[in-house]
Amino acid sequence: MRIVLADIKGGDGVLSKDTVVGGYGSRLRPFTRVTGIIAYLKQRFHDMPSVHLAYAAAILARAGHEVVGSTGEPVDGDVALVLSSLVDYRREVAWAKAMRERGARVGFVGLAAQKMPHLFEEAADFIIDGEPESALLRLATGESLTGMVPSPQLDDLDALPFPYWDPLLTRRRSVRVPLAGRAYSGSLPVLASRSCPEFCTYCPHRIQSTYRSRSVANILDELSYLQDRHGRRHIVFRDPLFSQERDRVLELCDGIRSRGLSHSFECETRLDRLDDRLLTAMHGAGLRAMSFGVESVAATTLKKVGRRPIPEAHQRDILRRCQQLGIVTAAFYVFGFSEDTWESICATIEHSIDLGSTVAQFKILTPYPGTPLYNRMKSTVTETDWEQFDGFTPTFTHPTLTNGELRCLLGSAYTQFYVRPSFLTNYLRIGAPRVRALVDALDQRLKRRHARDLELNARSLSC
Ligand code: SF4
Repeated sequence: MRIVLADIKGGDGVLSKDTVVGGYGSRLRPFTRVTGIIAYLKQRFHDMPSVHLAYAAAILARAGHEVVGSTGEPVDGDVALVLSSLVDYRREVAWAKAMRERGARVGFVGLAAQKMPHLFEEAADFIIDGEPESALLRLATGESLTGMVPSPQLDDLDALPFPYWDPLLTRRRSVRVPLAGRAYSGSLPVLASRSCPEFCTYCPHRIQSTYRSRSVANILDELSYLQDRHGRRHIVFRDPLFSQERDRVLELCDGIRSRGLSHSFECETRLDRLDDRLLTAMHGAGLRAMSFGVESVAATTLKKVGRRPIPEAHQRDILRRCQQLGIVTAAFYVFGFSEDTWESICATIEHSIDLGSTVAQFKILTPYPGTPLYNRMKSTVTETDWEQFDGFTPTFTHPTLTNGELRCLLGSAYTQFYVRPSFLTNYLRIGAPRVRALVDALDQRLKRRHARDLELNARSLSC
């Protein structure tokens, strides 16, 4: 069979799918000057091929099928598999319909189609219900899949072939940018583990399957294969909680060094799953950037959504060590928890600056279907267009804040974080005491200005 794997790209704003938000995806449509610049940079640094489709390509190609990729252009084939998302489902469905008109059977994979099949079924011959690999192993043998196809998770991830990238790669060159942590285009994602053992009630990463990890030897073999076949790429570990198993990660770092692998890499984790020794080992093995959730400064708010707070002193220690090692840090924050008020969100913004991560991402709480939070908030959800569940758009009635206020605070968070001299000196790693003193003074002036702007915006919202 000729099989088309479709990761539909484009549309407005910066679109991220695949492993982002567990597969629901996100879309940043710039709404201020600062978010416009961030969107521009994200488009260039965060554009990666889909690791889930690369696993599909490997399973199908190994069985002797011809596998081709599409990012939205029509391609002839017997079967088309579409990577589904919530934020872009209409264009995915439109592409699927066009493929059916050309005679292909079309299936959807991913969390969005699994949890929201009614959005996709008019254009689907089949929808894979679960992590796709066990269903794809059946498709690979020639079985004709129909309707909702149960696909139980595979417990032995080492049994899977390594992702096969050839049909999916568009840009081949990876350009390293000094101080950026991540390369300009050409990065490749790797999954060393799947799902997450934590219990954050708002998180879609943990609702499709349970936590499992690959053996160290198997990951090292994949990294060696990638280096041999695709050269020295920047690797993005897309595990939701990369350093969950400390000894395993230490062993992985030892293996990277002893095999002479020269990839740089980044990962996402929790700060309480890091310590000085582990971080030093990861840096020695190529860690250059790291992202982690802080979400809110208020521990009580975090506990209400099942998130275990991390002592602030530990967060600061880890960030200080990252700064010393030159690891770029990205902290994630969320606004709109039910306990949030205007003042508590302002406190979280201030904390984000004070904590000192290199960059920060702010989002609005989004009740994603299938999460415990969605079940709790269902009656407050006002947004009827599922594509608006993009992480940056208010979708429910908050107990004390209007949608306008949430967006206003979101825009202000980006401005306050990025429009200040200390952001640049942190980024450029300038630590000279004299420069820092001058920068601190300038920061204070800008802080007053940002506070005035926010107050003016708040007043205009209450008029
Ligand atoms: S730790 Fe992160 S990935 Fe894990 S459940 Fe919480 S938010 Fe999700």
